[in-house]
Amino acid sequence: MMKIFPIPAFEDNYIWIVQNDQEAFVVDPGDAVPVIQYLKKNKLKLIAILVTHHHRDHIGGINNLVELYNTPVYGPRREKIPNLSHPLGEGDVVEFKQLNFKANVIDIPGHTLGHIAYLWQGGMFCGDTLFTCGCGKIFEGTPEQLHHSLQRLASQPDDTLVYCTHEYTEYNTPFAQICEPGNLVLKQWVEDAEVLRQKNLPTVPTTLQLEKATNPFLRCTQPEIIYQIEQHNGIKLPAGDEQAAFTALRQWRDMF
Ligand SMILES: [Zn+2]
Repeated sequence: MMKIFPIPAFEDNYIWIVQNDQEAFVVDPGDAVPVIQYLKKNKLKLIAILVTHHHRDHIGGINNLVELYNTPVYGPRREKIPNLSHPLGEGDVVEFKQLNFKANVIDIPGHTLGHIAYLWQGGMFCGDTLFTCGCGKIFEGTPEQLHHSLQRLASQPDDTLVYCTHEYTEYNTPFAQICEPGNLVLKQWVEDAEVLRQKNLPTVPTTLQLEKATNPFLRCTQPEIIYQIEQHNGIKLPAGDEQAAFTALRQWRDMF
């Protein structure tokens, strides 16, 4: 039986570990130390490392883990990933039969140009592209690329679990609430997330259903959001232009 747990790292990163009783793989190990501690404590053998993109807080632990466990490294073929043994891109499949895990790889450029996601029936590892109530910053791509990537992630079934790599809910919800003060699902989520964080519990994974109901970057066609963008940016958005609304929203978020 496959289980997935978050291993906290740095300030607010999560390194996801997918495991059964004996074996495990990790996703985006920015730091080797908490992974090694977890593996030792739970007597697990590390069989692979999966990576979504090349940022330091996602790859910093790879070399130490490879040295210790001699594990293969799966990651984006278009980015510089240390010890990359299995370069991946759109259309590739990653499978670990012993963990009952089989995922499709898609390219989701925007945050970085080579960023990939791993999608399987029931969940997604989406790195720094889709966050709870937010999305990644555009470091290398264009707003068009990021928008398209988010749309592709959002087209998965509603019950898909969103395993993003940061604890950002309480960081993102104040902006989401300004975008959509009348959103009652969002209001409830803010309260629920506060309770979780007070108990020091993660607010992730969320479901795509919740993201579609609360995440302003997946809701750029909502009249209230368009109204707030126009008010705060002092602009008039072209009617029906979702991309223009997304671009303006991402810019506003960067200033917020
Ligand atoms: Zn990143």
